[in-house]
Amino acid sequence: MSENKIPYKIYLEENEMPTAWYNLRADMKNKPAPLLNPGTGQPLTAEELAPIFCEELVAQELDDTTHYIEIPEDIRNFYKMYRPSPLVRAYCLEEKLQTPAKIYYKFEGNNTSGSHKLNSAIAQAYYAKKQGLKGVTTETGAGQWGTALSMACSYFGLDCKVYMVKVSYEQKPFRREVMRTYGASVVPSPSETTEVGKKILAEHPGTTGSLGCAISEAVEVATKNPGYRYVLGSVLNQVLLHQSVIGLETKAALDKYDIHPDIIIGCAGGGSNLGGLIAPFMGEKLRGEADYRIIAVEPASCPSFTRGTFAYDFCDTGMICPLAKMYTLGSSFIPSANHAGGLRFHGMSTTLSQLYHDGYMEAVSVEQTSVFEAAEQFARIEGILPAPESSHAIRAAIDEAIRCRETGEEKTIVFGLTGTGYFDLVAYQKYNDGEMSDVIPTDEDIAASIAKLPQIG
Ligand SMILES: *Cc1c(COP(=O)(O)O)cnc(C)c1O
Repeated sequence: MSENKIPYKIYLEENEMPTAWYNLRADMKNKPAPLLNPGTGQPLTAEELAPIFCEELVAQELDDTTHYIEIPEDIRNFYKMYRPSPLVRAYCLEEKLQTPAKIYYKFEGNNTSGSHKLNSAIAQAYYAKKQGLKGVTTETGAGQWGTALSMACSYFGLDCKVYMVKVSYEQKPFRREVMRTYGASVVPSPSETTEVGKKILAEHPGTTGSLGCAISEAVEVATKNPGYRYVLGSVLNQVLLHQSVIGLETKAALDKYDIHPDIIIGCAGGGSNLGGLIAPFMGEKLRGEADYRIIAVEPASCPSFTRGTFAYDFCDTGMICPLAKMYTLGSSFIPSANHAGGLRFHGMSTTLSQLYHDGYMEAVSVEQTSVFEAAEQFARIEGILPAPESSHAIRAAIDEAIRCRETGEEKTIVFGLTGTGYFDLVAYQKYNDGEMSDVIPTDEDIAASIAKLPQIG
């Protein structure tokens, strides 16, 4: 079998790692819509963003023309400690599924944060340090971003304040201890430590929180404390830019063996791993050089692409953040606490939203019981215990591979395996005990939060 010439793991050499991030927006004809100032309804300027975000990150956020942005040497050296990440040929899964499809996954879980989040955390901490800041604030949902940022901040000697969505703070106490071990302070959100937290608690007593609430709190703390800025682990253009390292490595590894993917699949919370994984491939598609089917996979309990509206909305529940034009369920949408994994954000990256709107990619939503079925199958065959978020992509990849079995098509499928699930064992326990269910919002639930969208233009 000539196939076996392709190794189980395709690694890159250190000198084959990307030296610049790829800015997908530079190749988009329809650029993502600008962030708006909620007060004036006008596009936000660098000056207006400067009190919230680090200067260089603001520049990256607003830059939709520069194709490649050099990765500073300090960041490249940090990347070398845990990258390149392997591109794995899932021979065992293919065999088990009896599919003619060829399945590859890019595994981002080989670092202590257990996910791809470290790729952007180290970049954001680097720019904060370079600017001479004291520290940064952030939110974390499932906990991977907070962990990644804690690691990055301790590396550069920055203070790190993390607002952690209450439901996962309670479900994942060990995540909190990892963050504290790296020197971060961790507060369950919503909390009494901020004005916006107090307001949300008064309106929704007993709420288990959401990413939107935690973002509002972290932004408030950053803007009220001199020497602090806010950093975000997903959604923003700058984060997609940093995560392009995933796609660039994937493409370099595939090119080594002259492999041409047909289908590229990623889970979508705020869109950063998917945006990063697909970046160079989408670039080729936009330039008319190649074609790929690109599939975003989201939870049925928080279905921004498949059931949301493409409109300007707040990125946070407290409605203090800029307005972004994106697929959204409405900033007041709070997904069911029953939903176990991350991927709980009400909106989506503006870049991916525009690409989806323009027909360059597809989206599917999957129910969490079928996601955990796929996770269990994958863990038993490929050995890695996947994060629930990542398992959304596994679900879709398995479904595509089964379709190939039925049609006899030998498609090449690449999916992003964004992380490991060691801190998600409460969710696995629910699944193993047969106590997991699917809570899917009704049309009325979604209509109610969509009705509260801000009126723009
Ligand atoms: C944060 C996270 C995601 C989802 O975030 P995106 O910005 O959509 O990539 C997916 N998988 C893991 C393991 C994560 O930590």
